[in-house]
Amino acid sequence: MTAYKKFLLTWLVIMVIGFLIIFSFLYVSDQFVLPFLLFIFISQIFLSKIICPNCGAPVTYQGKIAGTRIYGGFLHRKCRACEWDLNKDLSGDR
Ligand SMILES: [Zn+2]
Repeated sequence: MTAYKKFLLTWLVIMVIGFLIIFSFLYVSDQFVLPFLLFIFISQIFLSKIICPNCGAPVTYQGKIAGTRIYGGFLHRKCRACEWDLNKDLSGDR
């Protein structure tokens, strides 16, 4: 499975779990800020585990702005660090 497909799949799972968490919190209380922040935090951890097979940069890496590394939930087809096509399967990837 390519890094690109892994990212899409992880996003899908996170979205389903995230909505379940947020709606269940809304059901018991009107507090949704805390579970929402927790959800963002946890999703960032999972998404940053998916890395570019060529250079090892997380797929959440968005490039540098004013010398600061920016990470986010947006996926690019090409690695922002080395321009590797993230939807390309490696021969050794089984
Ligand atoms: Zn790369």
